[in-house]
Amino acid sequence: PEKVMNKLVSLAKRRGFIFPSSEIYGGLSSCFDYGPLGSEMKKNIKDLWWTSMTRLHENIVGIDASIMMNPTVWEASGHVASFNDPLIDEKTTKRRYRADHLIENHIEKLRREGRDEQAGSVQAAYEQASEAGNLNKALYQIIIDEGIKAPDTGASDWTDVRQFNLMFQCNMGALAEASGSVYLRPETAQGIFVNFHQVRESSRMKVPFGIAQIGKAFRNEIVKGNFIFRMVEFEQMEMQYFVKPGTQLEAFEEWRKERYTWYTESLGISPDKLHWYKHDKLAHYADLAYDIKFEFPFGTEEIEGIHSRTDFDLKQHQEFSGKNMEYIDQSTHERYIPYVVETSAGCDRLFLALLSDAYTEDTVDGEERVMLKLAPKVAPVKAAVLPLMKKGGMAEAAMELRNRLARSFPVQYDDAGSIGKRYRRQDEIGTPYSITIDHQSLEDGTATVRFRDTARQERMAIDSIQGFIASKLV
Ligand code: ATP
Repeated sequence: PEKVMNKLVSLAKRRGFIFPSSEIYGGLSSCFDYGPLGSEMKKNIKDLWWTSMTRLHENIVGIDASIMMNPTVWEASGHVASFNDPLIDEKTTKRRYRADHLIENHIEKLRREGRDEQAGSVQAAYEQASEAGNLNKALYQIIIDEGIKAPDTGASDWTDVRQFNLMFQCNMGALAEASGSVYLRPETAQGIFVNFHQVRESSRMKVPFGIAQIGKAFRNEIVKGNFIFRMVEFEQMEMQYFVKPGTQLEAFEEWRKERYTWYTESLGISPDKLHWYKHDKLAHYADLAYDIKFEFPFGTEEIEGIHSRTDFDLKQHQEFSGKNMEYIDQSTHERYIPYVVETSAGCDRLFLALLSDAYTEDTVDGEERVMLKLAPKVAPVKAAVLPLMKKGGMAEAAMELRNRLARSFPVQYDDAGSIGKRYRRQDEIGTPYSITIDHQSLEDGTATVRFRDTARQERMAIDSIQGFIASKLV
């Protein structure tokens, strides 16, 4: 699995999908830049999500809220008080860990070693700990009692456990004191909740309706790593669906189905790599929660959460802002604070899921090749136009076709090296179609279209190629 990740990271860098951020200065932990192909592919993911959520649902509209908000938002949402991770430091190596992760990994290790009884008792103590009054102390006690060692160094001289808030805090303008500090949002959802009435009124929405948003979120994650899986700056694609209380579980089921088929049918992710995970332990405000997990090379991990959040958020904002958050049903005159079903996906995690799902090594014509088997909709480049030779007018005809196709979708022109080499270059970045202009093209207006996955070729009328490819992108 490590090997696969190394190959992905290296391909991503070599071909301009993802670079470490500010690398000439040594980079910055867990920060990445999307290169020419990466930004194109990421845009495709966001466009596909946006279309499936807003354009295809007449009762869902989009917004683009500010990253910085009035700090009271984060008090109302509960993030100031409890968006925390329990941290512990190892004194000799000065390395920092998440206490909960150390314990979870320890339990897993015990299970792997067949020590189920001990695993069970640690699990029980761990579960009790999160309900106990003094969580930090309870977590610390488990780590000491079990003699848990730092995974990378084996050291075990631990500090106390303390809660660490994941929000980035910064100062705004002239206000130097604490009241002048604002947060970088740790999720996009709150921008939707605070705009509930404004969106509803301006778009004349009736419950049930949804508000969708794509945007950056920031979390001061302590445990980073696994490439773009866990970043401190990442992009979320969230939709909050407002429903009448009592109808939330029905709405939840519908969204659960729809979100799953979006991954398999629209994005072409292998269904056998997607798994449902039902939360047994719910946040105090939630009444149902599922995650969609993907089998990454390093483990099966969450890419999207689907949560039934009751009226918690709107109620909190009503209390903290003093503004009425009720909805009045015009036909029945009922008044209520709507319940919310949310779908919350990470764009970067999905990007990584798509890359690792697409990564394929196979043999074509006796030659090994690396290919990204991306769905045409997701692929950063839809077609390559390749003149068989530069001479004889083929280059000009190919460039002309490139320019024509470029008005509809991203295309590349390539005349460097053997045709086989040029095909491989395209396979490696996931281009689904390679069009070769040859002698015959100049005579009868046809070209060969090569299909990435099978390497099969088909002669088509040049004038029909644009329509053919466009039909694969809807
Ligand atoms: P995790 O348990 O992995 O930290 P989470 O349960 O805190 O994730 P949510 O708060 O439900 O995540 O956020 C919704 C989505 O946002 C996640 O499913 C994930 O795709 C994405 N996401 C959350 N944190 C990060 C991060 N640090 N880097 C990249 N994506 C993230």
